Amino acid sequence: MFFPFELRWQDIVDILLNSYILFRLYAVFRGTNAFRVFLGIMGLLLVQRIAVAAGLILTSWAVQGITAVAALIVVVVFRNEIRSALQARNLKTFFWGSPRPLLRTPHACVAEAAFGLAEKRIGALIVLPGGSDVHLELQGSLRIDCRLSREMLMSVFWPDNPVHDGAAVVRGDRIEEVSAVLPLSQRDDLPSYYGMRHRAAAGIAGAADVIAIVVSEERGTVSAFYGEEVRTFADAGALERYLERTRPAAAAVSAGRRETLTMAVAGAVSLLFITSVWFSFARRDGTLVTMEIPLEYVRRDSKFDYVDADIDTVRLQLSGAAALLKNINASQLKARVEVKSGEVGENVFRLAPDNFSLPPGVELRKVTPEEVAVRLDIEAVRSVAVQVDWAGTLPPGLCIESCELRPAYVQVSGPSRRMDELATVYTEPVDVAALPRGGIDDVRLVVPHPVMSIDPDTVDIACAVQRGGR
Ligand code: ATP
Ligand code: MG
Repeated sequence: MFFPFELRWQDIVDILLNSYILFRLYAVFRGTNAFRVFLGIMGLLLVQRIAVAAGLILTSWAVQGITAVAALIVVVVFRNEIRSALQARNLKTFFWGSPRPLLRTPHACVAEAAFGLAEKRIGALIVLPGGSDVHLELQGSLRIDCRLSREMLMSVFWPDNPVHDGAAVVRGDRIEEVSAVLPLSQRDDLPSYYGMRHRAAAGIAGAADVIAIVVSEERGTVSAFYGEEVRTFADAGALERYLERTRPAAAAVSAGRRETLTMAVAGAVSLLFITSVWFSFARRDGTLVTMEIPLEYVRRDSKFDYVDADIDTVRLQLSGAAALLKNINASQLKARVEVKSGEVGENVFRLAPDNFSLPPGVELRKVTPEEVAVRLDIEAVRSVAVQVDWAGTLPPGLCIESCELRPAYVQVSGPSRRMDELATVYTEPVDVAALPRGGIDDVRLVVPHPVMSIDPDTVDIACAVQRGGR
């Protein structure tokens, strides 16, 4: 009985491996514009499949064309983004872990901007997220997504700037958002001189994996909030060193609950997607085809010089997914019998599944015939008499008086069994009528069997033809 959901261990490895590759591609590229466009292309592919299934010929052609062009465009337009996504990661993060925290923040820029603002007594609040997504904690933020520089960061908090209130979110080398309202900390162990800005910093640091840097308007101090910890810094160098020290550590700690959840969902979706693709494509759903393919005999034992079989093709009945079997051709299939044990004479070899190499996902159901008879033989060399194969008749009044062959015997080598039955070797037909006086040289001998060889392979015929015969 054939079970449509019968899974081999290879199938499970197949599904898991491809799910993992898909999952890692997501982990490395997510959040990039290239990834969003890639998702779009996947959507197009889906539309194309639906169009094909529904028989919409023109639509499926058009979508197919658009998909191909779009795939090319992604690579060309987003080449820088793809390059930086690949470059920024070492091999380990590529295959394991969340690559996000590896986005490097130019800490010196942040530190200098903070102290630049402090000097001018301009209040500021800068949030540096780690692995986790902070967006859930933010309210009313304005996405600006611009390149980080000391001047840019300072100008965000410049008093006349309409977005100077609230917090700026710096991720990697970009100022992602400004004017963000953060959750206020409910902690009651904070100093009483902490106002709203400091409480907001403590709030976000307690709620997510972030470093929140506060520049005090009133006191001109620069402090960093990270988890429960608060530090105040004497100069930009001290803040920079602290950030350098803390960020790698922040990256190493588990990337936060939301992050874990996102990755778990991504993993599950990858697995689901690949499984459904696998089942729609590679599932062996019992379609049968029959194919005739050549059978090859491979001599594994040097004891035998000859392998001789009656059958040189076999019929295979194969089962598998219709999609797979439709594209299969006989050249992808190999059948070989390894001759390694046996004795001189007739041997019967049973054809087993390991005699055939089939593409993955294709299963062998039946072989016809199930066994092959193979004659094995060793080489023998014998001296065999030569006889002329006369053709035609002599003109009237002539007769052959004597005829001699040189040599009269030749060496024939071939399978010993066949050699036993061989009594004579014939020349090619010789027309008596055309026989010149004295004979004829270099008459070819007929090889009795293709596997045999004759030495020498020509003979000279010396003849005396006389008048008077009848
Ligand atoms: P400073 O030492 O600079 O005075 P502070 O801790 O005393 O700081 P406030 O004087 O209350 O704080 O500072 C108010 C500023 O803090 C606001 O103008 C606003 O920019 C910012 N702020 C207040 N609440 C929030 C919040 N929930 N999220 C983000 N920023 C906030
Ligand atoms: Mg204040």
